[in-house]
Amino acid sequence: MRTKIVAGNWKMNLDRDQSIQLVNAISAALQNHDLQGNRVMVFPPFVNISAAQQASNRDLRVEVGAQNMHQAASGAYTGEVSAQMLLSNEVTTVILGHSERREYFYESDALLKEKVDAAIAHGMEVVFCFGEKLEERNTGNHFKVVEDQLKKAIFHLHEGDWEKIILAYEPVWAIGTGMTASPEQAQEMHAFIRATIAQAYSREMAEGISILYGGSVKPGNAVEIFGKPDVDGGLIGGAALQAADFIAIIKAL
Ligand code: PEP
Repeated sequence: MRTKIVAGNWKMNLDRDQSIQLVNAISAALQNHDLQGNRVMVFPPFVNISAAQQASNRDLRVEVGAQNMHQAASGAYTGEVSAQMLLSNEVTTVILGHSERREYFYESDALLKEKVDAAIAHGMEVVFCFGEKLEERNTGNHFKVVEDQLKKAIFHLHEGDWEKIILAYEPVWAIGTGMTASPEQAQEMHAFIRATIAQAYSREMAEGISILYGGSVKPGNAVEIFGKPDVDGGLIGGAALQAADFIAIIKAL
């Protein structure tokens, strides 16, 4: 059975104290909650990772990851952080391919392939994000766009490498907009993604991959979205910043 996951992408939000408070609140709420093997992750900005880790130490069930990393091992890349640096801070999971990185920082499929390779070479786990823009959906190209993004950045991986891959389908038009994909739209795309993986690798492997949905997931819609058979949880932006909302979404699993 594949793992179900709720992951909070904090983006460029929360200072040190707020980060600690939020992790404390999540940990406290999970104290008496049986996660039944499901995973809870938060992704703070680099500078607040260590504070979040310390806050989660009382309850290691809140895992702390990074929102990005550079593909090189080290060097003259001002402002960047490498896989080795993350690992030396006990960060073993990294988000790659978020649409905001693609759009505002011009991260291409080719660059993301390099980043994925660097993360996998270091034994890191990758939450790989991808998804179509509104005009691509409106013109009926969403399946092709999604397939291309996967083929260009991760389908070169060996089957064994996929143990370290979590997929996050995030239609760009639903991120931070309040416009959520309907549970049926999410299921349709997740089933397509799983079938595409099955075709490239094997059905058995495809069945084991966790595919998260991201895009305006809130306490009010999480149960319905997570209830779809090919949706294995969510990558949450805005609602991950409020303890009560994030906890309600975790409980929706
Ligand atoms: C995200 O940034 O990954 C995201 C899904 O954001 P939101 O939940 O705010 O749409």
